[in-house]
Amino acid sequence: MIRAVAADEWTEQRPPRCPECGYDLRGLATLKCPECGFQATMGELREESRRARREATELRQANDQVRLGLTIGLTSAVVAALTAFGQLTSITLVVGGLGGLAAAVYGGQGLRALKATEHGRSLAKEPPNYMLAAFVIVLGVVTAVASVWLA
Ligand SMILES: [Zn+2]
Repeated sequence: MIRAVAADEWTEQRPPRCPECGYDLRGLATLKCPECGFQATMGELREESRRARREATELRQANDQVRLGLTIGLTSAVVAALTAFGQLTSITLVVGGLGGLAAAVYGGQGLRALKATEHGRSLAKEPPNYMLAAFVIVLGVVTAVASVWLA
């Protein structure tokens, strides 16, 4: 995997990357990053690799939560809209209000990707959907506020 260490010493699933700049350290004779000069230890490389994988998993879950938030937000918005036309009344505050808040919280999970490293993002495959996350947050807040106002 990397020449600076025996291949069987590297047991992580992903190739080693510089903890500072994310440079791919495969095939190097030393653990010194040629890109930024960072002198890494094997422990740091392993930790970086595990952290990137954790991040990638969290990013995938964040996108799933944003999509769940969209479904909840749209459902809540429909309930709130039906109430405005006099079709429903008593359940508005509960469904619209709580549903809207839940949607906003799930949408907010999508913004966690802002803190993720480049390495973690590259492993996640699906890019973070900031636009959808922002839309779900706004949809959820507007629905919650409208539901309280309509009730
Ligand atoms: Zn580096």
